[in-house]
Amino acid sequence: MKKYLAPILALFCASQVLSAQTENREITAALAESYAELQSTYTPSFKVDGTNAKVRNVILLIGDGMGHGAVNAAMYANGGALTMTNLRTFGLVRTQSADNFTTDSAASGTAYATGQKTNNGFVGMNTEREPIPNIPEYLTPLGYACGVLSTDDLNGATPAVFYAHQAARGEKEAIWADLPASVLKFASAGTQSTFESMPLATQDAIKKTFTVVYDPKDPAVAGSERLLYLPESVHLDRGDYLPATTEMAINYLSQRGKKGFFLMVEGARIDKHEHSNELPETLAEMLDFDKAVEAAVRFAEQDGHTLVVISADHETGATLLTGGDLETGFVRVSFTSKSHTPMMVPLFAYGPHSRDFAGVQENSDVANKILQLLGAKK
Ligand SMILES: [Zn+2]
Repeated sequence: MKKYLAPILALFCASQVLSAQTENREITAALAESYAELQSTYTPSFKVDGTNAKVRNVILLIGDGMGHGAVNAAMYANGGALTMTNLRTFGLVRTQSADNFTTDSAASGTAYATGQKTNNGFVGMNTEREPIPNIPEYLTPLGYACGVLSTDDLNGATPAVFYAHQAARGEKEAIWADLPASVLKFASAGTQSTFESMPLATQDAIKKTFTVVYDPKDPAVAGSERLLYLPESVHLDRGDYLPATTEMAINYLSQRGKKGFFLMVEGARIDKHEHSNELPETLAEMLDFDKAVEAAVRFAEQDGHTLVVISADHETGATLLTGGDLETGFVRVSFTSKSHTPMMVPLFAYGPHSRDFAGVQENSDVANKILQLLGAKK
């Protein structure tokens, strides 16, 4: 019987591949090759890493679409090192949403922001379409100052889940309109022109509750109590916006939180370039995100009571590293999808209690661990 098994198995496998191809028209095998511009990385001392010291501040960095392929490609393209891969605590995150094996950024973001799984497309709402509290809403009454920062528009799913409650992520105007009633002390994301395209009533309500600036050096920043900084661009022509604003947000929030602060930083465009299978731009976004990671880890190193958690909302592109050269930084990548995938995503952590994030966990677990460490009762 055995000799018949192999051809039968082969036939079975071939037909599985065929049906997968007809089911998922997104399956591709786009080969791409690139070099990246080498940049320095930072390695902290690890003095406070993994200790039981009190956590006063948490910086959560989310690389949208940042799966293993993106981390591998960026690390090897950067001569074998990233600040995030210099860290010692590593975990894996499962990203399934309540209604789909493959999540979108709204459902996974909501899990990261609230500790609860929900349906794809939902922003800060449970599967019953009821608003559920997010980390800033749990922490602000306890004396923490909270903020978000993203290279997406402010209404993008990942920043939105930390301040808005809407059942459809596409409801751009409704999401912006949720900002004034939010508890955020600091927000920065795209863009000036997106803000100016909102209804005047929304713009007025935001201006009444936030100091709105278009320039981080605006003198109004220093005396403000709540700040909305809107850059002109969040695309690759944005310069060092992401790392520089990470520093700015840390500085702003650490001066305003009586008990501490919580900051979410999103590198939003890794995902967008993986969707279109563009390798050089994916690498550029990964390396820029790693500079924001560096800013967070440098602060954690000198502060001693700051926990940094770096992960992703989902993988995008079924991005695979298939070849390269460590010396020249040349990498060869195969994108085998133009969509999100259900694969687990990597997590890196640094600071006191970083080890709590090792091992395999759900995206919702990450939020619940953060809330517990900061003394919030759910
Ligand atoms: Zn996406």
